[in-house]
Amino acid sequence: MPAQSRFFSRLGLSVACAVGAFMTLGCGEKSARDDVITVYSARAEHLISPLFDRYTEETGIEIRYITDNAGALIQRLKAEGGNTPADILLTVDAGNLWQASQEGLFQPLDSEIIEAHIPAHRRADNGDWTGLSVRARTLVYSTARVDPSELSTYEALAEPQWEGRLCLRTSKKVYNQSLVATMINTLGEDETENIVRGWVSNLATDPFANDTATMEAIAAGQCDVAIVNTYYFGRLQRSNPEIPLALFWPNQDGRGVHINVSGGGITRHAKNPDGARALLEWLAGEQAQYQFAEVNQEYPANPRVDVSEEVAAWGDFRADDVNVEVAGRLQSDAIRLMDRARYR
Ligand code: FE
Repeated sequence: MPAQSRFFSRLGLSVACAVGAFMTLGCGEKSARDDVITVYSARAEHLISPLFDRYTEETGIEIRYITDNAGALIQRLKAEGGNTPADILLTVDAGNLWQASQEGLFQPLDSEIIEAHIPAHRRADNGDWTGLSVRARTLVYSTARVDPSELSTYEALAEPQWEGRLCLRTSKKVYNQSLVATMINTLGEDETENIVRGWVSNLATDPFANDTATMEAIAAGQCDVAIVNTYYFGRLQRSNPEIPLALFWPNQDGRGVHINVSGGGITRHAKNPDGARALLEWLAGEQAQYQFAEVNQEYPANPRVDVSEEVAAWGDFRADDVNVEVAGRLQSDAIRLMDRARYR
């Protein structure tokens, strides 16, 4: 067949597919085999599957995924090397994303679309990953025993008035490592260590395994104030609307509330990097961002997208706009500091 008619017959085929796609998804099914995207996700299945289903509906492209915790997925990607089936790693916390980047598990996103959708301070400096949702780690207090006028900053929780009244989640959790890392970035090591020592001396009881147990301890009267991620508060409030707890936005006259991201990047050995990029671009876009945040009561990473009504009800706040990557760079300093301060 001469080159020209080959060109036209291909063109004819793709037009037929485009038309067919609207009617039956027939051509989409064919391309699904070729264009399948494989995702390793530390974000839970019920949070990602509605988005992936929608993407498949819109494009006909199949998405395969497994979910596990971030550490296990990072180890798995390292062990699999060039044989990995994964095209995308999705995970929570800039500390984990930074770690994966340091291990050489990503390739640059190289996407003007993502750069247009997500502000630079919510993406990797080296272009390896982008944030896709924002979570605030803020104060929560007993509405029965604390007047919000008593609260001001994370640092003030180290003051003697909170002796025996503070609950914390374990320092082993990356969320607290990231919080302390950003404090080191702003306040320096010495001042941060003094504050963490103050927190430890104010603890009502040993640190808890998770944010929900930490808040339940306040409700049970074990302590009066704690530091938690907003979506865990949202979850608890949904299951128990009468729970006598409220959120407080600290550091509003200073650096703002500590925020972190969930996000993702294209794996270094992706078999379908173009498909992976297109999916991440879609997730960063205005249509998907609302749902991506809303499903876990988070804030969209794309600033042009509104928050859900439930989240809006918690009120506006000033967020720390330090590049979230600091959480990764100073993570090991934060771990050592918390260890010295005997924060377990
Ligand atoms: Fe979480």
